[in-house]
Amino acid sequence: MATSNRYDILFEPVKIGPVTAPNRFYQVPHCNGMGHQKPRTLAAMRGVKAEGGWGVVCTEEVEIHPSSDVSPFAEGRLWSDADIEPLRWMTDAVHEHGSLAGIELTHSGFNASNLESRVPSLAPSACPVNSYYPSSARAMTRKDIRDLRHWHRQAARRSKAAGFDIVYVYAGHNLSMLMHFMSRRHNFRTDEYGGTLENRVRLTREILEETKDEIGDTCAVAFRFAVDELIGKAGITFDGEGHDIVAMLAELPDLWDVNISEWENDSATARFEPNEGYQDKYTRFVKQLTSKPVVGVGRFTSPDLMVKKIKDGTLDLIGAARPSIADPFLPNKIRDDRIEEIRECIGCNICVSGDNLCVPMRCTQNPTVGEEWRRKWHPEKIQPSVSKDRVLVVGAGPAGLECSLQLSNRGYPVLLAESGMELGGRLLKESALPGLSSYIRVRDYRSGLLLQRSNVDIYFESKINEQLLKELDIKDIVIATGAAWKKNGVGRQHHTPIPGLENINILTPDNIIPRKITDQHVTIYDDDHYYIGGVCAEQLVRDGCTVTLITPAAKASAWTENTLEQFKIQQRLLNAGIKIITEQDIESVDRKGINARCIYTGQLTNIQSEQLLLITARDPDTTLSNKLIDDNGQASCNYNSVQSIGDCLAPGTVASAIYLGHLAAREFQSKQGSDWYTDIDQREWPSMVWPANVTDSSSI
Ligand code: ADP
Ligand code: SF4
Repeated sequence: MATSNRYDILFEPVKIGPVTAPNRFYQVPHCNGMGHQKPRTLAAMRGVKAEGGWGVVCTEEVEIHPSSDVSPFAEGRLWSDADIEPLRWMTDAVHEHGSLAGIELTHSGFNASNLESRVPSLAPSACPVNSYYPSSARAMTRKDIRDLRHWHRQAARRSKAAGFDIVYVYAGHNLSMLMHFMSRRHNFRTDEYGGTLENRVRLTREILEETKDEIGDTCAVAFRFAVDELIGKAGITFDGEGHDIVAMLAELPDLWDVNISEWENDSATARFEPNEGYQDKYTRFVKQLTSKPVVGVGRFTSPDLMVKKIKDGTLDLIGAARPSIADPFLPNKIRDDRIEEIRECIGCNICVSGDNLCVPMRCTQNPTVGEEWRRKWHPEKIQPSVSKDRVLVVGAGPAGLECSLQLSNRGYPVLLAESGMELGGRLLKESALPGLSSYIRVRDYRSGLLLQRSNVDIYFESKINEQLLKELDIKDIVIATGAAWKKNGVGRQHHTPIPGLENINILTPDNIIPRKITDQHVTIYDDDHYYIGGVCAEQLVRDGCTVTLITPAAKASAWTENTLEQFKIQQRLLNAGIKIITEQDIESVDRKGINARCIYTGQLTNIQSEQLLLITARDPDTTLSNKLIDDNGQASCNYNSVQSIGDCLAPGTVASAIYLGHLAAREFQSKQGSDWYTDIDQREWPSMVWPANVTDSSSI
């Protein structure tokens, strides 16, 4: 029910060419690891966003032709008429809620290795392909350019047939052929498509015109354009060619969707771009050059800032990818004056890691994303309780908080017991480390709701043990007691303790925060490879320490490649004066110091250090579960059910703890942990049936 409030402006309809968006909430195209491989999963995920109030819901990039095959990544596909039907599943799901559906047509140029189609890659000028594959793209002939225009036109026609309302022409992220053509550093052609800016823009102009001609009577044509690449004059800049391109094409598209390039800049994590609206300084000029509506992004979650962006003439539509993943119901919550219920994106890019690892995306804040179709999970709805049994949740980290909240949502009475004085578990420590302050939102969203619930009691400073359990007399227990970092160096590289650790002062991330280490030389051994090694290094430098970071990986914080952060992390650590030693592990420690060992040659180097900070792996806290769960995974006889969740079950990401907490609450009094491994059916398509007329060569 719409309220007449200061956010009304966000709910005004916006005309986009021949179509009208019902409000200003615009889910811009975003990858998701589902794409053409999981079209039902995808359709359900997009449909939930429309249900949650996003007036426009777009696809990810959609390959228009086999020469734009970015496999193994799972993007959208519109290679032929056969691809229309699965895309219609998405448009139907979006239209069901009165929203518009947009499709981002893409030719990826030299970013496509064509691993599946096996046709040679194409580019404005010959060059190596952009992904890790030893092949090159060939320079396009004029015929190739005509073909590309034809493929785009065909894809636009198919988009209309699939029911889309907005059809994109895409020149962003350095991932698109059109951007490659426009770029001085990729286009060395000497014909009418190379040289001057006008020539380099020619193909984009032609494709915009042809797309309008093909489907512009009923569909809007959007142009997604990266106005700045953040590489200075070598690239497109908002005060150079970016500006000029917008001026040249100003009135041609029905909508400008503007951002910065590359993807790691557009989807910057909160560690590197802590503020909402961080793209404004680059994109705000666009509205001055066009009368067409403009959408832009910047991890917007605050309605006041959104209103400001509309009123000050920066944007017409509030674009969002990650905020719409973290909370598909963000628009409806603003509309209904339920601002405090918004699950704000924390800017961690775990969602992006799904796409990079070619699996359906997951989200730290929203455990239901990607599970809308497979598990039938809805971000705002959950099945009611099947009893009035009271549940004890032990531990108030991410897993315990999420489980308590969802049990409470189901209607179960919950007692949440926490041994500390605050809610949050690992989030309390980690959010105090450099660049991670947004992580506390994971706690705040859940604690804010839990503290208001009449069916939830929270006991602080209550370390649960067997004696207390007897006194409480609750028969259903969820254990969420977390994990502690190992102090013996065991991890991926070492399967047994590192010899000689008694010769040095050992630290772990667990004692970086409460016990400040200042003005010493600290060696970090990072065999974890996610963010914690890098942020501990930054913290120690802030505390006046000299830091050496040793890792068996080839890069610092190597796994953060998947969250688009690795380059920026290593750059920041090097700029902070941290010495990074890669491809080395620690063979041993003796009285002379730390013996670092080359993982290839075994050559040893001695490093003098006062402290050794081990970041290798975590031990699950199984104190309670060992007593309450038997070898068969069953609750001991005094209890109806006992379930471990989160880090005390299997230490992992915060996203994983939230997910396991959510899963346990959903399955409470239905399935227990050992049952979680059954009934996971991922098949979306009927199995392959050979055509009747094939000849088996073995029978010839
Ligand atoms: P997870 O990521 O799985 O949620 P955390 O380590 O973040 O795990 O949180 C675990 C929480 O459990 C911490 O806040 C810790 O203080 C609390 N805790 C650990 N053992 C007990 C216990 N026996 N009784 C109550 N709380 C506990
Ligand atoms: Fe935001 Fe992190 Fe969720 Fe992505 S995974 S939407 S960055 S909270």
